[in-house]
Amino acid sequence: MQNGGKTARAVPTDNRQLKPAIRAVTCSAIDLRNKAVFLDRDGVLNRSLVKGGKPYAPLNRQEFSLLDNVKQACQLLTENGFLLVGVTNQPEIARGHIDWRTINEMHDFLIAELGLVEVRVCPHDDCDKCACRKPRPGMILDAAALYEVDLSSSFMVGDRWKDIDAGVSAGCRTVFVDHGYDEPRPACPDFTCADLFQATAWILALKS
Ligand SMILES: [Mg+2]
Ligand SMILES: [Zn+2]
Repeated sequence: MQNGGKTARAVPTDNRQLKPAIRAVTCSAIDLRNKAVFLDRDGVLNRSLVKGGKPYAPLNRQEFSLLDNVKQACQLLTENGFLLVGVTNQPEIARGHIDWRTINEMHDFLIAELGLVEVRVCPHDDCDKCACRKPRPGMILDAAALYEVDLSSSFMVGDRWKDIDAGVSAGCRTVFVDHGYDEPRPACPDFTCADLFQATAWILALKS
């Protein structure tokens, strides 16, 4: 196992991560804060590759495809006033199995197709001990600060326990998309469902 500074290696960085394309929405005097749905990527927006009961990230554009009804779900959430922010662990970057160019192509597609304000990426692995790798809430907290998001009226949707724990730590309500993976399940999601469309129906029913 790598440990401490001696064996730490540089994780490739991407300057674009520092410059989200869209800035915070200007707030009215009455409604000072935005509400958001933070979306895990693999298994929520696009298909994961499932091998031996465990999910894996697509590593090229050919393997990358949207799940059913995701576009409609994102449209409904946007129409109902939610900012959509992707938050994804991609340790395959640190492991050298995918480069930023391919990741950015995937995320440019998601932003254009689904209307996300951005897709935040943790490019690290466990040994990097970063603040952004879920279950840590760093990506959610940073995006919430940038977009002036009220976390208590926001949601985190994910298909693994690390997503749900990150959402709970950030102070969001959480939705677990259960694909029945052969791995530990989250302890306390607020809602469990089969896909983002069901998650969306639950979120919007709460609001009405
Ligand atoms: Mg996932
Ligand atoms: Zn990280």
